[in-house]
Amino acid sequence: MTMFDLSARMKNIQPSVTFGLNAKANELRSQGIDVINLAIGEPDFDTPEWIQDAAINAIKGGITRYTPSDGFPDLKKAIQTKMTRDYKLDYDLDMITAGAGSKQILFNALLASINPGDEVIIPAPYWGSYPEIVRFCEGVPVIVPCSPQNDFKITANQLDGYITDRTRWIILNSPNNPTGAYYSGENLKKLSSVLMEYNKVNILTDDIYENLIYDDEKFINILQVEPRLKFRTLIINGVSKSYAMTGWRLGFGVGPKNLIQGIKLLSSQSTSNACSISQAAAIAALTGPQDFLEDWKKSYQERRDASFELINSIPHLSCIMPKGAFFHYVNCAKLIYSKTQNGNYLKTEDDIVSYLLTKAKVMVVGGASFGLSPFFRISYASSMDNVKTGCKRISKAISNLIVN
Ligand code: PLP
Repeated sequence: MTMFDLSARMKNIQPSVTFGLNAKANELRSQGIDVINLAIGEPDFDTPEWIQDAAINAIKGGITRYTPSDGFPDLKKAIQTKMTRDYKLDYDLDMITAGAGSKQILFNALLASINPGDEVIIPAPYWGSYPEIVRFCEGVPVIVPCSPQNDFKITANQLDGYITDRTRWIILNSPNNPTGAYYSGENLKKLSSVLMEYNKVNILTDDIYENLIYDDEKFINILQVEPRLKFRTLIINGVSKSYAMTGWRLGFGVGPKNLIQGIKLLSSQSTSNACSISQAAAIAALTGPQDFLEDWKKSYQERRDASFELINSIPHLSCIMPKGAFFHYVNCAKLIYSKTQNGNYLKTEDDIVSYLLTKAKVMVVGGASFGLSPFFRISYASSMDNVKTGCKRISKAISNLIVN
């Protein structure tokens, strides 16, 4: 069969590993296999009822037509109010845009700003879409390995060492997917003093896990510690993770006017606008009650604590206590070259991940897709029962390995 010829630029992009794994978990379940999916990176709560109601009212009220490509003015006002309320940062409406998920905002922002060969500094472990999108835009992802000893965070010295004449962006993500690392005000102050020295380097801060910070820590953005970076900082965020609305596809970007207008232009010639109904729902999410977020956070924190204990009690595995998001990044280095009961060696992290799927029936994600091996990511955004049973099954499967 002759293959359809894709464009040369498609060679620069790889599929999302987590989307692939979710599809695989669903396929196995449909075959009656009892797989526990700890690969998934989305809340297990339902979207709150008043947000659902706002969407239903929007449908019934005829909010079903094209909207401005950067979103309804009321949604932009809700984002503006949120930025003042939560970040103490003021933005004009033409510095705000909404889109079909924060991923679309990220994609358009990089497409609108990267010239071939421009470098983008990405601290690793990172969310897998960053380097893929950079490459698709003909930029060069510059991966900075961050050590577990520094909670997987980039240091000011590292940042300084990786900046070149071609550096266009640094991407910061706190709390981080996949490690749960969180940048404190002190961390951000040190990074910002380096960034103040390089006024051509822009800062993209991905704050999608903003509401998921534990142990009484408070979220902080780099602009709150160094407001002078505002004219070259893009904040991306959305309702997916905070309000359990991943399927609604609604994200937003806040930043320099020119860049926001570039993002809007690309939306107008691609998706046109984010779904009108999701926009109405997002207004309800951003302006409605916020106190339930504390209860959700408490529930995630309980699952984090329980899974942290369980993982660290499994011989040969270890993870550090994550401060935010809903993931553990598990070090599995000691299992490399362990032997299964069939006499096969687990030579790579991928072998370990497939062994866990086959033997424990637990789906996790290998660290290669986050840029730092040998690790795997476990999500605890699943029921406490799933999280505990998943960890116990992993423990049992590992106890059957012969480890040197
Ligand atoms: N940023 C990070 C770090 C993520 O983990 C994800 C989703 O997994 C996103 C952005 C995308 O979120 P959205 O649903 O708003 O596109």
